[in-house]
Amino acid sequence: MISRFKSKGKTLYQLYDTVFIHCPKCDKKAVIRKTDNTKQLTCTACSYTKKGSLPLHTYFPKLWLRTRCGRHELWAINPEHLQYIKEYVSAKLRERTKDPESGWSNQSIESRLPQWIKSAKNRDLVLKCIKKLEERL
Ligand SMILES: [Zn+2]
Repeated sequence: MISRFKSKGKTLYQLYDTVFIHCPKCDKKAVIRKTDNTKQLTCTACSYTKKGSLPLHTYFPKLWLRTRCGRHELWAINPEHLQYIKEYVSAKLRERTKDPESGWSNQSIESRLPQWIKSAKNRDLVLKCIKKLEERL
C-alpha cells in the first residue's frame, strides 16, 4: 500500500505556540503556551507557573519529547509536531502542494528535517523512536 504525505507547508514557527517541556521545578510535563504578547509556562503536576518572554532556546534542552535515536537525537516541541514528523516518515510517497498564500516554501517542517530522519533506511528506527516519545504523552 502506498501512503501519501501531503505537505501542509506548515512551519515550525506556526507550531511554536505550544511547547512541551520538563517542569523546571518538578521535572514532570509542563507546557509553555503563547498568549497575546507573552508566554506562560504551566505545570499541572506541581502548579508551577511562570510568565514572560520565555525564549525557546532556554527551554530547548528541557524538551519533553526528546530522545536518543540511533546516533542522533529526535525531538519535537509538541505532540502536533511529533505527529507531523511521523506522518512524514511513514509516508512512502511524498508530495508537496503549493500553498495559496506563501507559495512554495522552504520553511516547511519537512524541508527542515535533518537528512537522517528523511532517509528511507532509517524509517523503521525513526518510527520506533517516535513511538517511544508518544508513550510519554
Ligand atoms: Zn512542576
